[in-house]
Amino acid sequence: MSKIVLFFLVSLVGCGKDNLREFYYNPDTFNEDQLSQLWYSVDLLNEITGCSQTPILVLKESRSKFYKFNGRSELWLSNDLEKNVGGLTTASLFEVDIQILNRTTSIRIVGQEVKELPFDFQSIFMHEFGHSFGLEHSKDDIDIMYESMRIYWDRPEVLARFAEQLRTVGAYCK
Ligand SMILES: [Zn+2]
Repeated sequence: MSKIVLFFLVSLVGCGKDNLREFYYNPDTFNEDQLSQLWYSVDLLNEITGCSQTPILVLKESRSKFYKFNGRSELWLSNDLEKNVGGLTTASLFEVDIQILNRTTSIRIVGQEVKELPFDFQSIFMHEFGHSFGLEHSKDDIDIMYESMRIYWDRPEVLARFAEQLRTVGAYCK
């Protein structure tokens, strides 16, 4: 069977479950901290959309090679994103791929000081997962979908806005 036919079948199987996003990831390529932030973000997104019992965002383990346009949705850490890009989501008809910048610290301005702080994977995971459900950027800097992350993203009001935006693109339990 050719790959193209297989992709077609996958997309048919996906019909009727279009609010479900299943991402393959390789746990061996994440360090412990990255992994716990990834799982926290997935749990939080399912929780705020009311989908803790029947998750709409699911991670699946895989150890095979990850790349764009192979017919399945994947999430992986990357060293080759453009400057100042923390994450990149690429969507095609058959898959959504998420690349996250692989680093442990970032330089940020806190008050008057420039500080080196732990890299905030959670905010980037949440933002890219938002893209995976079809959300575009927000012009409002209180939003997780704001282009650059300057907000205290885990505040209840920020998460409530995010949950509402996810609902508008069908990301909730049906
Ligand atoms: Zn974005």
